[in-house]
Amino acid sequence: MSLTGQHILSSDLFDRGRLEELFGLADVLVPVARGEQVTRVLEGAVMASLFFEPSTRTRLSCESAFLRLGGAVTSTTGSEVSSLSKGESLADTSQVIAGYCDLAVMRHPEVSSIHEFAAVSNIPVVNAGNGAGEHPTQALLDMYTLYREFGRLGKSMDGRRIALIGDLRHGRAPHSLMKLLARYDDLTIVCVSPEGLGMPEELLELVAARGHRVEESHRPSVGLADADAIYATRLQTERFADKPLPYSDEFRVDRALVERVCRPDAVIMHPLPRDSRPGANDLGTDLNGDPRLAVFRQSDAGIPTRMALFASVLGVADEVRKSLRPATWHRPAYRRPDDAAFYRNTANIAD
Ligand code: ASP
Repeated sequence: MSLTGQHILSSDLFDRGRLEELFGLADVLVPVARGEQVTRVLEGAVMASLFFEPSTRTRLSCESAFLRLGGAVTSTTGSEVSSLSKGESLADTSQVIAGYCDLAVMRHPEVSSIHEFAAVSNIPVVNAGNGAGEHPTQALLDMYTLYREFGRLGKSMDGRRIALIGDLRHGRAPHSLMKLLARYDDLTIVCVSPEGLGMPEELLELVAARGHRVEESHRPSVGLADADAIYATRLQTERFADKPLPYSDEFRVDRALVERVCRPDAVIMHPLPRDSRPGANDLGTDLNGDPRLAVFRQSDAGIPTRMALFASVLGVADEVRKSLRPATWHRPAYRRPDDAAFYRNTANIAD
């Protein structure tokens, strides 16, 4: 079944065939994401960008993706600047926006919000994070990153050992990622968390029911060993009634831990933001410049992945290839200082 016209509320929607199709289209769109080529397949379309919770990457990359497809974006950020602060229901807001726009992307702190919003909308609604629920577009870009990184390393997706570490209880990104990992074969999924912050049982069961090996651990030095990919996550402080205790330093994924226990070709990911304040014990900044650290390649992947999704949902996926033209403006060969060395040493990932 095609994605045209569908709401994207959960990563459940994507089976392996759909993922592979989407990644094929994302590959075609990488030069557009990098500003090397131009397409106008969404010329005239308008996206509503509705963020009622903080966001940097998801909002800017959804908006950039839509704009790079030739569409236009209208936005509201924070409930205090929208009519929700005047007591308007999400259902009314949704019906108004359906009259203005062709696609809506929404982030909201309540898990039920996206369902209420989408239930009364005939334009596609994309979940950009519903509280501690799901974050399907993050999971799509995470899988696309794994597909590209394992491809670069000459490894297949199947048979890999993937470790997820941190606040797996409240992290919506790892929740959505588990549902996509489940679509592959013969994985070992290791969930490493402090006591009380483990992956929800139903997600562990879902993955196990699809034939994968599932391990849980409270000890990073054991859980991360031999993993092909490590997916670190931030303590979701906004989901606690009282300020939570930070991760213990055992949970800091830094150079010392990585050198001690991780594979030399491990792919180190994080949905970002990483909490870099002293004592947060999140993913360490001392890994910057290490080619295993894939976090900025991962955030870059948000653009082609979301472009592929929007083009598919709005029914123009087949138009993309023939619409591409070269871009003419100046752009740097590499966008970040560490990129040049990485791409020069890993010829195939830049293609
Ligand atoms: N940016 C991701 C999210 O919105 C991860 C995080 O905030 O920790 O869920």
